[in-house]
Amino acid sequence: MSAEFLNELRAALGADHVLCDGDLSSYEQDWRKRWHGKALAVARPADTAQAAAVMRLCARHGVTVVPQGGNTGLVVGSVPDDSGRQLVLSLRRMNRVRALDTANLTLTVDAGCVLQSVQEAAEAQGLLFPLSLAAEGSATIGGNLATNAGGTQVLRFGNARELCLGLEVVTAQGEVWDGLTGLRKDNTGYDLRDLFIGSEGTLGVITGATLKLFPRPAAVTTALAACASMEQAVGLLKAARQKLGAGLTGFEVMGRFALDLVAKHFPELPQPLPGAAWTVLLEQSDDESETHAQERFEALLATALEDGLIEDAAVAQSQTQSKAMWHVRESISLAQAQEGLNIKHDIALPVSSIPAFCAQADAALQSAFPGVRIVNFGHLGDGNLHYNVQVPEGGDGAAFLRDHEPAVNRIVFDAVQSFDGSFSAEHGIGSLKREELAQRKSPTAMALMRAIKQALDPQGLLNPGRVL
Ligand SMILES: Cc1cc2nc3c(=O)[nH]c(=O)nc-3n(C[C@H](O)[C@H](O)[C@H](O)COP(=O)(O)OP(=O)(O)OC[C@H]3O[C@@H](n4cnc5c(N)ncnc54)[C@H](O)[C@@H]3O)c2cc1C
Repeated sequence: MSAEFLNELRAALGADHVLCDGDLSSYEQDWRKRWHGKALAVARPADTAQAAAVMRLCARHGVTVVPQGGNTGLVVGSVPDDSGRQLVLSLRRMNRVRALDTANLTLTVDAGCVLQSVQEAAEAQGLLFPLSLAAEGSATIGGNLATNAGGTQVLRFGNARELCLGLEVVTAQGEVWDGLTGLRKDNTGYDLRDLFIGSEGTLGVITGATLKLFPRPAAVTTALAACASMEQAVGLLKAARQKLGAGLTGFEVMGRFALDLVAKHFPELPQPLPGAAWTVLLEQSDDESETHAQERFEALLATALEDGLIEDAAVAQSQTQSKAMWHVRESISLAQAQEGLNIKHDIALPVSSIPAFCAQADAALQSAFPGVRIVNFGHLGDGNLHYNVQVPEGGDGAAFLRDHEPAVNRIVFDAVQSFDGSFSAEHGIGSLKREELAQRKSPTAMALMRAIKQALDPQGLLNPGRVL
């Protein structure tokens, strides 16, 4: 079967775009190197018609498919299993900008366009595509939509779902659904677009998207504030929202231990507020000027100081200083990786519950595993924390993960659940969090999801073993 299937695939795509031999590890291994699978082959269609032809062949031969974009996903959803029978469908060759409508503020692109190139296409017209995340140099727009990616601008612009007006999708049967609309209003039946967004390649293959653009702000600037407690940080968020309104585009929190790790592993990076229990990074987009934004920051922070919400603050005086502040924030994951293995949690909570959640989860973890170190940071403005657990100082990370990862996860996720939170804020389910989904979603929600999967992919061809 395989030889006949592969021959038909080569006839459809050209032999150069069906990879079977050589080093395929960039397609078979996940970004965090937690999993290395074995693909039947990697198919690289050039356009939607070829992607549809691949799916028709797979449906006829019963070959299962793993759609893949930049392969930067963090939940092992974009790489094949180790059976050697799954086809990786790589969208990366599909990287054309199809249309840009400056009056309608929309951009239509192939799904394989790298996020950064989408941002640049908008910028070339003086416009903004606000989705932004540290993997933007490799992640594709199709992958961003398939995972409903978040990132650093969600507070103001929403996540990928809210930035997408239309989709083009190849179904499991190899049909093309052309939903590439640029309409802001369209209540004609069920919202198929929203069904495919966030479905992690299990319901259809996204081949194109029409995205929302925005006017570029005149200035984007940054400030840091030192808070003595998480309660203060949440209080500062409320004050910043009131004073800056839609101008507040970023609100990130960094715990002391997270910044200590950055200081240890990247001592060359300046940290203007040393010793703060919590450091908040605020970003403001301003339609007038950088000076205007700085003045608004200074007014906000002076009031926050008077009101006892912050202990100290620093406003960036230049773009270089703004970048340096973001650089520290973006270095936390790397510093953590250099410190050794750790258990990552990407959780969402109502912002108002975050102080109580941290107190409860910290205490429960310390009681069960004395000395564990919590690397707590993330998108506080969205109620999204990266609440990661590092082995006690000097401990064996691999042994700790082997022996305690399920118990640590249970403590953290039980606490999340008790505050009506989510155990996966941005990264999705993939294969890593499938068990968690089955245990923590209601039976009704699981039954509805299975019914949708059955309706759209009755043969179970698309990304089997992921999500459900
Ligand atoms: C350093 C780093 C920082 C990150 N920061 C963030 C962050 O701030 N916020 C955030 O949300 N995520 C973040 N991520 C996770 C990741 O970058 C996002 O999930 C991203 O959206 C994945 O895009 P991708 O093209 O790499 O998709 P892939 O990793 O290739 O695929 C991810 C999932 O989508 C499916 N898929 C991919 N393309 C398609 C398609 N065209 N059609 C259907 N299904 C498809 C795959 O099957 C898989 O299930 C980060 C990752 C890294 C490595």
